[in-house]
Amino acid sequence: MTAIKVGLVGIGAQMKENLLPSLLQMPDVRIIAACDTDRARVTEIHRFVPGIPVKDSVVDLLKDIHVDALVMAGPPQMHREAALLAMQRGVAAFVEKPPCSTLAELEELVDVANRHGVVTGVGMNFKFAKPIRQLREMTTSREFGDTLFVQINHYANKPRTPLWGLDSSLRSFLLAQAIHTIDLAVTFGRGELIDVRPRVQRHSDGLIVNGDLTFSSGVTASLLSGTTFPYFEFQMKVVSSTSTMVELDNLWNMTVHEPEHGTNVTGVAKRWRGTWQPGPLDSGYERSGYYGELLAFFDAVRARGCFEADYASLLPTYRVIEAICQEETESAFEGLSLRSQSRSEHTAIAL
Ligand code: NAD
Repeated sequence: MTAIKVGLVGIGAQMKENLLPSLLQMPDVRIIAACDTDRARVTEIHRFVPGIPVKDSVVDLLKDIHVDALVMAGPPQMHREAALLAMQRGVAAFVEKPPCSTLAELEELVDVANRHGVVTGVGMNFKFAKPIRQLREMTTSREFGDTLFVQINHYANKPRTPLWGLDSSLRSFLLAQAIHTIDLAVTFGRGELIDVRPRVQRHSDGLIVNGDLTFSSGVTASLLSGTTFPYFEFQMKVVSSTSTMVELDNLWNMTVHEPEHGTNVTGVAKRWRGTWQPGPLDSGYERSGYYGELLAFFDAVRARGCFEADYASLLPTYRVIEAICQEETESAFEGLSLRSQSRSEHTAIAL
């Protein structure tokens, strides 16, 4: 198999700690160039891949070196601009999340990707994490029945100030953290997103964001997230038409609750619960999804096919992000004009 020639853009923490180690283990992928606006950072790549050319701009990298794909990890403005340049040259473009700052920008990226017929990808590693893959397999089995309800609690304590030069800490939090949560709700919701009911609470510089999503499949999802929590915690529950409930705790412990379960050893038992955990020797990159997402992306590049976490797959997620930002703007406006009148019902946002 001919190796895919890859250029790296943005040699910062995420590239060095997660993406690069995964790429270095991957068969038939060759890193042939690197780029960062910071000279000291870009030359650090030689500790891992000696002798490759280094550039301080994506324009120069694409002009001077023939690559099949770029893998990028920097601010969303860089992701968007560099992905546009790459796609216009027919180069596949994988970016860390977030790919861009707004829904309108994502729609432009999707449009350019379609026009140039290139494979695109976003680093939605939660979706490829081993426990989530296990949960997806379990909840799509015939025995599980139809998924009816998904609950995701994603507690965070940052960012509490705007990131990447944006003017909103809410949008920064949604793009940096809640993007994973919303993407998982969309993944497990299956079908088209048809309704979003968001609510945003601010206390000092912290946020609590919750929302209910409805999908055309009949699945509903309830999300709770924000930056007011003491530390990172992640809990997920999926409930099915067979009264089975699967709980995933901190992307690690999975518990399946069933009304009744039969095994050779126990016979038929009521109120059954079974547990699953990743293997203790599973590699960290595989467990966290970084290896799996890149492997699937390069498979799609080879096959000229579609990668599951491509730019288009994030359109519903960005619709939810815009709905949450719109809800906060509208609440602030109502708070000013109707301060004495309490809101009895929060409104659904038109998608
Ligand atoms: P970082 O600041 O450590 O690294 C970013 C690098 O990009 C820097 O070296 C910077 O000089 C470079 N850069 C900036 N603009 C550039 C440009 N125009 N051209 C070339 N290089 C440029 O940041 P980080 O912590 O590595 O985060 C990078 C991205 O990874 C962010 O978008 C973040 O959201 C994402 N990330 C994702 C996860 C995840 O769970 N998937 C986890 C951490 C970070």
